[in-house]
Amino acid sequence: MTPAPQGAAASVVVATSCPRCGAPLELGETANATRCGHCRAHLAVTGRGQTLSYQIAPRVSPADARSLVRFAQPNNGTHHHVGDPRLFLFPYYRLTGLELRWTRAPEPERQRPRATPRFANGEAELLAIASAIAIARQPRPLHSPLFGGRWVERNVAACDTAGLASYSLGIRPSVLRLELFRPDPAATAVAPTYAAEQALDLAKAAGPDGPAPLHTTMLARHLSVVYFPYWVIDVRATDRHRCVIVDGTSSSIVASDIDPDVLMRLAAPRMPAVRTLGFRPLVCPNCGWDLPEDPDQVVFHCQSCMRAWELSCDGLASIPYAVAPIPKGTDSEYEMLPVWILDRPGAESHDRVFAPAFHFRNVRRAVDLGRSLTRIAAEPPEHADCDRPLGRCHLDRADGAAFGRFVLAGLQPDGLPPTDGSSAHAPTLAWLPFRVGPYALHEPRTGTALPKRLLP
Ligand SMILES: [Zn+2]
Ligand SMILES: [Zn+2]
Repeated sequence: MTPAPQGAAASVVVATSCPRCGAPLELGETANATRCGHCRAHLAVTGRGQTLSYQIAPRVSPADARSLVRFAQPNNGTHHHVGDPRLFLFPYYRLTGLELRWTRAPEPERQRPRATPRFANGEAELLAIASAIAIARQPRPLHSPLFGGRWVERNVAACDTAGLASYSLGIRPSVLRLELFRPDPAATAVAPTYAAEQALDLAKAAGPDGPAPLHTTMLARHLSVVYFPYWVIDVRATDRHRCVIVDGTSSSIVASDIDPDVLMRLAAPRMPAVRTLGFRPLVCPNCGWDLPEDPDQVVFHCQSCMRAWELSCDGLASIPYAVAPIPKGTDSEYEMLPVWILDRPGAESHDRVFAPAFHFRNVRRAVDLGRSLTRIAAEPPEHADCDRPLGRCHLDRADGAAFGRFVLAGLQPDGLPPTDGSSAHAPTLAWLPFRVGPYALHEPRTGTALPKRLLP
């Protein structure tokens, strides 16, 4: 269901090495799985759901940074002693995700009486009165909330940089080649001192200008800490000592008159324990079969032993699933696509909520499919075996639950998910059949058509 990230986020790569053969390995920032181009090992990415730490390697050499600062000194007869560059790493929080929201629909306008033709007699007036009565009796249409969705990418300083590092990472995505963070005794890593939620100001980020959202949720959320390199160079003249800061990726002077004590204070807090991305073999834990290395996939189905595995923080956990039968008496071709089903026993309406979990480029259509299946309360499948390939699942259970609550909120007149706890259950995973047409896949029970061009 999740669309590919657009723009900068899509181009951000993590450069690391294969844990099996040591060859260089590059993968997308949000990838869940990859394959080594050298030894062909299928690899699952561990650390999912954690705040992982990365660093950006300096591209400006210390010698270049020093000569940049030396040439920038005023030629006024005073001798400036330019010291050796020291590498400082400043922390930024980086958040990406797919934000969905419901906003209040504008009040529907009632239809105005049309100008009535003029007649010589009183007929015109009678027509006008009849029309006004008819309009007054129109039921007020129930208007469902309006859907909005966007890919969010935010980079903000994770500590009070006292105006030192006013650069935002997001401005220059071309430099966003991330490496795993490694403590280096030769570099001073500045500890994050802001809490992520506070620094990212998620409430403010929740909606662009316009009406306040009724309900928002974020899927495929990735939060990381990225350490950005700066060279710090002491400049001493007869009467004063100050620091100049050079951007480690673009050879530009960021600040030229910094009190050395400010830098000492920034470097003082102890670094918290950091966690970095890792790998484990992407093979079925039950039978050893290679699982497909789709980077966006999060539930992997083993075509050998038919088990399904969800990628969690540190490994693959077995997950139950069901497969709906292909409708009988048809020669059509069918494709199986995954949905999360949120059961709400005892709820007054919508006692089964459906959240599509496959990759689809138009989220609105996926929301519409979820609402249609929920409205008809489609029967949940019970079978657990299927001899045909199962479509790839791109939402994990937590995102499936969040998306289900979002679909449910969109079916309420107030655009809010019910607060009775009925949607708090863990969802179950199922694959449903879609009839393959020339241009679209068709969900047989609701008639919803998913254009093939919107499927990968
Ligand atoms: Zn390898
Ligand atoms: Zn298996």
